[in-house]
Amino acid sequence: LGPTITVGEILVEIMATTVGAGFLEPQSLTGPYPSGAPAIFIDQVARMGGAAGIIASVGNDDFGRLNVERLRRDGADVSAIATSADWPTGSAFVRYRPDGARDFVFNIARSAAGQIALTPAAEALVQRAGHVHVMGTALSIPGAREVILYAIETVCARGGSVSLDPNLRKELLTDDGALESFDKVLAAADLLLPSGDELLTAAGVSEEAGAVARLLEGGIGEIVLKRGEQGASFFGRDRPRVDCAAFAVAEIDPTGAGDCFGAAYLTCRRKGMTPEAALLHANAAGARNVTRLGPMEGVSTLAELTAFIAETPRR
Ligand code: ADP
Repeated sequence: LGPTITVGEILVEIMATTVGAGFLEPQSLTGPYPSGAPAIFIDQVARMGGAAGIIASVGNDDFGRLNVERLRRDGADVSAIATSADWPTGSAFVRYRPDGARDFVFNIARSAAGQIALTPAAEALVQRAGHVHVMGTALSIPGAREVILYAIETVCARGGSVSLDPNLRKELLTDDGALESFDKVLAAADLLLPSGDELLTAAGVSEEAGAVARLLEGGIGEIVLKRGEQGASFFGRDRPRVDCAAFAVAEIDPTGAGDCFGAAYLTCRRKGMTPEAALLHANAAGARNVTRLGPMEGVSTLAELTAFIAETPRR
């Protein structure tokens, strides 16, 4: 079946370099780095040699060009990235707390990403696609969620599949439409890629085993739970649970790890690997990503993942 596609925000990320510093006073910043959870995801699929495309909108500016050129170079189909004449490419400002948590200032809804629509190029990509991956962050953009729901319907009608990374960001969950569309996507998902409490939130159940059981009964085929430096776990409807310890790496920047993890898992499964092998590669993709500053700087090729798995000890 056709390429893996996603829909959503492309932006640049600019980070405070001092841990603990807020944005109420001037900070040393680094960036711009190409970013946007859907963009990081699709770049990682492409880097692994998977057919990949993204429906998005950027401004007619250097922040947009930086992103499109990176995605093109890494092999993603950029034909459905529109260039808005009126709106700039969005941005995210990130600061890290001493405990490793992150706070974001997003400028997405009032950026070119807010203009995402079903253009003729987007329609053509949907018609070729075999899999739709949905990033929760994109559901906060009204235009994007319309395209997402249309893509799911179209691709599923052809026998394609759907994955969902809830990626719930409190800064972005501002309207009812986002939550309503989240439930629709969840109902259509074959693969769910939650991290932390997102599993419990998605299931509406307060502990892990119950949440997994509820979601598998609800029709999701595979759940892969991301546990940060604790690694990850696989739960399947007809297969035994698999736990995978994280690789022992020094974390420089956690942003993008979950997106690379999800992309690697999905791409390995679409290439025919078992859940166990896909989980190992996904763990490696997440771990490699955190060793680099910048959300998209630590994406991996399949060969890089293979070498990393062979040479890196686990926690
Ligand atoms: P998200 O970015 O979606 O919150 P996580 O932080 O759980 O997701 O990271 C995704 C995956 O990346 C983890 O399941 C793990 O495999 C890997 N990973 C993340 N942080 C680390 C780390 N510090 N050391 C090793 N692996 C990590």
